[in-house]
Amino acid sequence: MIPYDNLSKVNEPYSLIFQSRFNKFLEKGWYILGDEVKKFQEDFARYNQMNYCVGVANGLDALILAIWALHLPKGSEIIVPSNTYIASIISIIHAGHKPVLVEPDITTYNIDPTKIEAAITPKTKAIMVVHLYGKCCEMDPILEIADKHGFHIIEDCAQSHGAKYKGRMAGTFGIMSGFSFYPSKSLGALGDAGAVVTNDPVLCEELKMIRNYGSHGKYYNEVVGYNSRLDEVQALFLEIKLPYLDKINEHKRKLASMYLEQLKDDFILPVVHPDYFDVYHIFNIRHPRRDALKEYLLKLNIGTEIHYPVAPNKQKAMAHLLAKSSFPIAEEIHATTLSLPCSSCHSESDIQMVIEALNAF
Ligand SMILES: *Cc1c(COP(=O)(O)O)cnc(C)c1O
Repeated sequence: MIPYDNLSKVNEPYSLIFQSRFNKFLEKGWYILGDEVKKFQEDFARYNQMNYCVGVANGLDALILAIWALHLPKGSEIIVPSNTYIASIISIIHAGHKPVLVEPDITTYNIDPTKIEAAITPKTKAIMVVHLYGKCCEMDPILEIADKHGFHIIEDCAQSHGAKYKGRMAGTFGIMSGFSFYPSKSLGALGDAGAVVTNDPVLCEELKMIRNYGSHGKYYNEVVGYNSRLDEVQALFLEIKLPYLDKINEHKRKLASMYLEQLKDDFILPVVHPDYFDVYHIFNIRHPRRDALKEYLLKLNIGTEIHYPVAPNKQKAMAHLLAKSSFPIAEEIHATTLSLPCSSCHSESDIQMVIEALNAF
């Protein structure tokens, strides 16, 4: 069996160090906002070439807190891609604003910059870019639009730890960027975890207050905040894994290059372009008979996933908001996409077997 992913195997290389550091953590008895959170925040900010990082409870909260920190007028509109994972859209709704969906480019699966201007209204205040599957958005035209209209850019980097566009790291383009360390992400915790990175010291302080009941010091509350703290124990695990993130990305890029070189033309492959350093959080292909292909691979004991089976505008949860809208490109992607094994738990010979199975379909 070649599973789509195997998280216990993904974390196996860190097992001994996790255990020895966990024992020290246990002895110390400090569980919330201590040295580990502080250390991880510093390390992760440095990794991203940014000044500040604020650890939060998960990736969704990272985006919600980032939007809150902007204090946009009530009912502001935020532009977001129509094929993103639902969390990006939900964060805008929970932050009290209106998501305005814009179609992706059918080759990059990221927001199509040429379609953004048509979605702008007097209420538009920000663009949330999502670097889906580990590929950066085409940032130059997006930055130009944001500049021209005075919009904020918030980056959803939940799938793009270490990805680059024209040599610049994902997470460095926006006013704030939200990361998720959900266990299956390229940098994954052993539970829920997230972070916001920013270069703005005022926003950093604001985010630190909001995640901790609106408080800087114990029992003095300056704003009506929230509880979304990064757990000390998750920060410890993340701090241990972070130095290996580039190696994890290199491994995934190697596996991806095998697919890219060897899969036959029947499959629509991710585009490769020298401006983009892709980290393949997800390696997806597209095929008109996607469901039959998934079934066929499963019979050969090869696990795959679909990211995502239902387009956001077709989700029951979005019926009140988006039901009447039509997003044919997002729907086409959702109907044909299939994610192949491409994890740090896979070896090159695993991928060779998947390639041979696919080419025989
Ligand atoms: C995983 C993910 C999130 C949310 O992260 P959680 O930590 O699960 O809350 C947000 N956006 C995208 C694109 C994601 O893939």
